[in-house]
Amino acid sequence: KSSANPFRKINVELYSYATIKQREIDELKKMEAFRREFIADVSHELKTPIFSAQGFVHTLLDGAIEDKKVRQKFLRKAAKSLDGLDMLVQDLLTLSQMETGQIKMQYESFNIYELTQEVIEQLEGKSQKKAIKVNFAEGVSNPVFVRADQQRIYQVMLNLLSNAIKYTKEEGEVVINFEREEDNIIISVEDNGRGIPEEDINRIFERFYRVEKSRSKDKGGTGLGLAIVKHILEAHDTKVEVMSEVDKGSVFSFKLPIG
Ligand code: ADP
Repeated sequence: KSSANPFRKINVELYSYATIKQREIDELKKMEAFRREFIADVSHELKTPIFSAQGFVHTLLDGAIEDKKVRQKFLRKAAKSLDGLDMLVQDLLTLSQMETGQIKMQYESFNIYELTQEVIEQLEGKSQKKAIKVNFAEGVSNPVFVRADQQRIYQVMLNLLSNAIKYTKEEGEVVINFEREEDNIIISVEDNGRGIPEEDINRIFERFYRVEKSRSKDKGGTGLGLAIVKHILEAHDTKVEVMSEVDKGSVFSFKLPIG
């Protein structure tokens, strides 16, 4: 006859039930703390451009509007702040849609070389004197067909390339490499810019994390570019990798399946 104590079984079940509930509570608390921190961060980021545009508009209304030169200068500055605000809201929307899984990836076959050229054209005004080169490794040539969400990968390339341009000196160089690895294409964006210190490298994909807060903000970034890149690539079951050395440069790379 079995001598097992039936109360012991109930006790064990109650115990594991309590542990599961406790874990759920801990998880909820963590999410709540995260949500609060996020709202605080967003409010802070929104305040900066609003405060700036408000300042210019009020100064104009207080009389500066009479002077044609001042008027133009202040309106230009207010418009710049509002453009920044628009970019921020756009990025926030993308990020929140990505995080809640509202966006389904639309997979299709496309030429990533062609897409890269379009991104380069879009950035032409910003790159000024910087050279942007495209390099094919052995065994890869145009066209380079991959299977992914074209529109989202455009955003990834735009964010990586505009960072490479932003964080590189006047006469910097940016190289985009296409390399083959088994059934994948490795796309890398390499710059010879200021690089990223080791202690920051794991944090740059967090929203609003900036290595040098004021310097990056001056450059007009929203602080969300890399967070968006990370989410888009995760949704493709792939990831972004980074190698960097201070004052030498950085390489951001990711893989996509040939298709
Ligand atoms: P931001 O809008 O500030 O550029 P990102 O999310 O795109 O925001 O990047 C986060 C931070 O990572 C930047 O503020 C910058 O400090 C650093 N960073 C990103 N790309 C590069 C790069 N190519 N070279 C040096 N630093 C970079």
